[in-house]
Amino acid sequence: MHSEPQKPITVTSPLLPPLEEFTELLQDIWQRKWLTNNGHYHKLLEEALADYLGVPYLSLFTNGTLPLITALQALNLTQGEVITTPYSFVATTHALIWNGLTPVFADVDPVWGNLDPAAVEACITERTVAIMPVHVYGTPCDTAALQHIADQHGLKIIYDAAHAFGVKQNGNSVLQAGDMSTLSFHATKVYNTVEGGALVCHSAEMKRHIDQLRNFGFTGETEVEAAGINSKMDEIRASYGLLNLRQVDAAIAARKGIAESYRAALAHVPGIRCLQDIPGVQHNYAYFPIYIDAAAYGRTRDELYFALREHGIFARRYFYPVIPDFSIYANSLSAKAAHIPHARALAASVICLPMYAELPHAAAEKIVSLIR
Ligand SMILES: *Cc1c(COP(=O)(O)O)cnc(C)c1O
Repeated sequence: MHSEPQKPITVTSPLLPPLEEFTELLQDIWQRKWLTNNGHYHKLLEEALADYLGVPYLSLFTNGTLPLITALQALNLTQGEVITTPYSFVATTHALIWNGLTPVFADVDPVWGNLDPAAVEACITERTVAIMPVHVYGTPCDTAALQHIADQHGLKIIYDAAHAFGVKQNGNSVLQAGDMSTLSFHATKVYNTVEGGALVCHSAEMKRHIDQLRNFGFTGETEVEAAGINSKMDEIRASYGLLNLRQVDAAIAARKGIAESYRAALAHVPGIRCLQDIPGVQHNYAYFPIYIDAAAYGRTRDELYFALREHGIFARRYFYPVIPDFSIYANSLSAKAAHIPHARALAASVICLPMYAELPHAAAEKIVSLIR
């Protein structure tokens, strides 16, 4: 018998705008001959995103890492300790190092993987200047508790909201929390501009400052007031972003359907835990993490992970290892890790299953039947 070679199923697949529509916009850009520096499509996308996300002050960036670095610069945070999460993508911590700040890793809550406010409070010292949490997988942090701690100790909060595009809590954007929030529009995210990102702040004056930092620190034609960087988004990606914005709601709805079928199919598998929806939260279904309790499931996380790979299912162990275990941060004087048992337990047991709008039903069924 001859079996068809199966196409591998990756953890994600990018949301692409219709090529004909993109070609039309490219023709317009060719006519305008204005490729970057706050062009026509840049302005349109900044306005459209601010409107869609429900935040008045948003600045586009060329990726999702530079807004993290620029947020710290804009708030003049250049020395001291910043309490952050060990359970995230490395860019969150790297942004602190790029600003000469010392990352201090506090533990996360054992269910959702977001910074635990009590653990944050326990890490505060005389040197603490800010908190940099992540809404991991798009689940909102306990923003009220974190704000209370920040207010009591005079700390800034910069949220890495790279996973939280469009997430709302009781009707309000999670991007309204803290002093600033950053977004990533990388190809692998719910909404993408190929590479791209944004920084959300809460005043016109701060937005002006951020826009200057994003453009080398120029404050006028012949004046530079800060050592800014170049992190501007170009017209080509801004126009692509406008087209993707039109279809992101449908993509999130499709992701929701996949999340629901995964949850239903895995509900009674011993030793497999999924994240559930939270009442009052509008989720974006950016990722679909499952946590494996090896004793109850009968196999370890890595056994399942490699078994899936053998069947062409390229799930990912996001986020493993925890950031303080990367060699740059382990045994380093430039970072400090508190006792982080919850983060370690999550990192040791997590697998993110394939999740994207166009994931075929048959693929999702194959994945859950392999897990079962
Ligand atoms: C993707 C991501 C980033 C970085 O974004 P880029 O656009 O790839 O630079 C930062 N933080 C988190 C949590 C991310 O997932």
